[in-house]
Amino acid sequence: MATIASKIQEVSGRIARACDAAGRPVASVTLLAVSKTFGADTVREALAAGQTRFGENYVQEALDKMAALADVRARLEWHLIGPLQSNKTRAVAEAFDWVHSVDRLKIAQRLSEQRPDALPPLQVCLQVNVSGEASKSGLAPDEVEEVARAVATLPRLRLRGLMAIPEPAGDLSAQRRPHRALHELLERLQAGGLALDTLSMGMTADLEAAVLEGATLVRVGTAIFGGRSTGGNPRAAG
Ligand SMILES: *Cc1c(COP(=O)(O)O)cnc(C)c1O
Repeated sequence: MATIASKIQEVSGRIARACDAAGRPVASVTLLAVSKTFGADTVREALAAGQTRFGENYVQEALDKMAALADVRARLEWHLIGPLQSNKTRAVAEAFDWVHSVDRLKIAQRLSEQRPDALPPLQVCLQVNVSGEASKSGLAPDEVEEVARAVATLPRLRLRGLMAIPEPAGDLSAQRRPHRALHELLERLQAGGLALDTLSMGMTADLEAAVLEGATLVRVGTAIFGGRSTGGNPRAAG
């Protein structure tokens, strides 16, 4: 069985080749390792291989993992990428570095109010429903600008950009379409004066398409850690 270190190398190679094809510097794309359903020991193994940024979908599972990894907290960056209910915002504001899945102003306001002063601002992305995803999570594209302007004023958050989980598509050109739509939306917000630098898009199956369309952060689980037996469907509510 391939080690996690070799899997991370493989994924980094995929990212590098896609960057080459896109004429982009390799350093312009960050790899987020999606460790949902895998335990703290697995995260530790990835950390030993040099991976420091991890994505989690389920708040309680993530908190348990963080507790088991408290000794290496300073070297880790934790990103929430799954659905966030308002009764979980305090725990998230206190424990995570990033939240990619903000899809309501109310959630952003709570995160800002609950972010401890001792921590740096919480880094956030707005999740956008760019391809009419079945899960219905994510803002509709035409709602994004108004919410982005409001979130950008919240004192304890820093709005970084946009995130999407497009429906699976078979071929590269079909995969590229929703990613391009998200990029165009980001460019409209930037043109409107919002200082955004993050496009969180691309997973195991479509990271090349995402990089070709300008992703700055790809969220990869399966290609690093292997298949998930239960749960972890990015389109299921969590
Ligand atoms: C699970 C998940 C991923 C990773 O998906 P893989 O296909 O395993 O790479 C990425 N983003 C989100 C939001 C997810 O829930």
